Amino acid sequence: MQGGHVPAHLTRFHGLLLATGLAIGLITVNVAGVTRWIWLSGVCLAAGTCLGLGVSFPSWRMFGNPLCRVDTKRRVVALTFDDGPDPDNTPALLELLARHGVHATFFCVGARVGERAALAKRIVTEGHQLENHSHDHNPWTNVFGMARLHDDLTRAQETVREATGYVPRFFRPPMGLTNQRVYRVAKELGLTVTGYSARGLDRRPDTPEAIAGRLLHRLKPGAILLLHDYGVPRERLLAVVAIALDRLKAEGYECVRLDDLAKDGPWQ
Ligand SMILES: [Zn+2]
Repeated sequence: MQGGHVPAHLTRFHGLLLATGLAIGLITVNVAGVTRWIWLSGVCLAAGTCLGLGVSFPSWRMFGNPLCRVDTKRRVVALTFDDGPDPDNTPALLELLARHGVHATFFCVGARVGERAALAKRIVTEGHQLENHSHDHNPWTNVFGMARLHDDLTRAQETVREATGYVPRFFRPPMGLTNQRVYRVAKELGLTVTGYSARGLDRRPDTPEAIAGRLLHRLKPGAILLLHDYGVPRERLLAVVAIALDRLKAEGYECVRLDDLAKDGPWQ
């Protein structure tokens, strides 16, 4: 099912390393003097920029093949909420989703699941999907070594299992930052690395219309839409989701859980 144009072990990161090495070799052999250093600096800058973009945007597939969108003709999308559960926002959001008869996917922070076990259980009981968004949401997760990353993700898996009885199968890295270790640890734990195809950027102080507009800009079947149910004002969150659900319905889209969506076609 997993799409992708490169074998599992060879990624664009390897291609980038190879291309950078070749370029450095060619310049060193063929260019002399100050010009050589100008060219070498240019190559390093370009390689560093590509690497930075690859780390920041999972859809660049620099280190592996994340689930960012599904290639399907069915008019379905997955609505995903990161960083919760939140004691104020999440219950109100659950009520709104229930009124619309919509199931969503919550990428929860393990530590918050531990603090709000009953709320996490409610998310699952109401038919939503609850997945792994790390245990601590540490801003430095992307520079964790293998052991620490493994420990953090395992703790989140355990906390979610204890609270809900469900063992997560998808992992969205904090801030969407990926590297080779993220893919390796996720694989060890049976987790699919998950990105998104559109974000509301809902922490910016914009109107609900603007946030929903960004989220649904260039909407396509199989989209994975990212919002937050933690760290945003409740009224605005509810307004954004209400606008988005109305628009999705008007355009003939159905909101499904991520596990449903992932079965629908090859990943992109
Ligand atoms: Zn997050």
